[in-house]
Amino acid sequence: MDKEKITNFYYEVFAGFVLPAFFVVTTVLVVKNPQLGRVLFLYLFCEIAAFVLFSIYAAFLVALAASFVAVIALIINPSWLIAGDFFSYWVVAGLLGWYLKRLSAEYGECKIWLEKKEEEISRLESQIEKYKKNLPDLRERVSRYRKISDFALKLATTFDFEKISRYIIEFSREVFSASSVSLVAHPTDVYDKWVYENQKPLLVESLSTDYRFPRVYSQHDSLMAYPLFWEGKIYSAIKIFATGRTYEADDLRFLSAVASLSALAFINAGLFERTQQLAITDGLTGLYNHRHFFERLEEEVNRAKRFGKSFAFMMLDIDHFKNFNDSYGHPAGDEVLRRVSARIRKKIRSTDIIGRYGGEEFSIILPETTGAKAVAVAEGIRKAVKSEKFNFGGKTVSVSVTIGISVFAAKDVAGEIVSRADRALYRGKKEGRDRVVLAGTEKDK
Ligand code: GH3
Ligand code: MG
Ligand code: MG
Repeated sequence: MDKEKITNFYYEVFAGFVLPAFFVVTTVLVVKNPQLGRVLFLYLFCEIAAFVLFSIYAAFLVALAASFVAVIALIINPSWLIAGDFFSYWVVAGLLGWYLKRLSAEYGECKIWLEKKEEEISRLESQIEKYKKNLPDLRERVSRYRKISDFALKLATTFDFEKISRYIIEFSREVFSASSVSLVAHPTDVYDKWVYENQKPLLVESLSTDYRFPRVYSQHDSLMAYPLFWEGKIYSAIKIFATGRTYEADDLRFLSAVASLSALAFINAGLFERTQQLAITDGLTGLYNHRHFFERLEEEVNRAKRFGKSFAFMMLDIDHFKNFNDSYGHPAGDEVLRRVSARIRKKIRSTDIIGRYGGEEFSIILPETTGAKAVAVAEGIRKAVKSEKFNFGGKTVSVSVTIGISVFAAKDVAGEIVSRADRALYRGKKEGRDRVVLAGTEKDK
């Protein structure tokens, strides 16, 4: 048995046996004195009141105190019985008062505790209500954030700008239940202009009541736009319209995550493109480098073979370039290389392919071009280069070029076309430079 049960057991014994025993003794003592009927009544009243109002223990205390006083009075002097009974009455009243105080204090504490608990319960209930109300919203958010990780993975699968744009538009349309999604490269409407001017995202919860903008699109109800930055500048913005729903701050927060991923994908694609470009171009002139040019030449040979087409090939070399370098220095030589290559580029078609073959040698593929036509183009280039004036150390100088041309013949491989043009170029050099030579004589084949 635990401690509490033992205590209860003793109380019950007292209440059941000792209390009635004391009660009987007291009653007998009081009844012996017939003048005490009134006191007996009061005593019984207290006893019943203590029992009914408080507990069996209170009644027990009343009986105990009264009996004690009565017995003492009887032993010492029976005539004190009246005083003893009165005394016991006051003792009873005092004890009852003390007991009442203790109980009411306990009751008060319990009441406060109960009130606190009730308050807590009602707070918890209102929280539960709130969570219940937010639950669908939270579910949607969780599913959105799950989707965004798939979106990030999808973006990482490509460096293609068009594909990235398509993925962004498709994803945004789905997660924002949008009626229209676009990537804005150049601001056109009032909303784009606002985003580009303020360099900030824009949220228009209600297009019909927002005082900042005139009503432009009657078919849409709400709008969000988020700028995408690259190297501190806006290069695009995601613009999303909704019909029949309202975008809120939370939607804009989610759009910021979408925009960050999108910007990153575009930046990566841009860097990839730039790296690829660097790998195939010559740093000084911006033309294709030797390796890439030769690959393009092989492609052209294959194409010509497959479709039975022809093309012309030019090998161009600056005359006496070594002397030029020696007289004016290498930086001046570099400037000549840059400007000569720019000149040549202006003289050819966009479909022609030009590369820097070596130091001061340039090579050009002219698809679907005959020898005669190639000679005409080469003459144009030669004259254009010669007319370019350079000013070094107060002197105005110009350079000339010698150009060898070969034309694709069936069964040619890339190397043979280059060699024929090279030999024609060499002949041009031997014959006095500053000229165009078309390979074709028996000697050049
Ligand atoms: P030719 O008329 O016979 O072609 O004479 P050349 O002096 O042009 O021919 P050569 O092959 O003897 O010299 C080519 C020079 O081109 C040697 C080199 O210093 C110069 N060169 C090659 N690449 C560069 C470059 O990137 N920058 C500069 N400044 N010079 C270069
Ligand atoms: Mg050379
Ligand atoms: Mg040269």
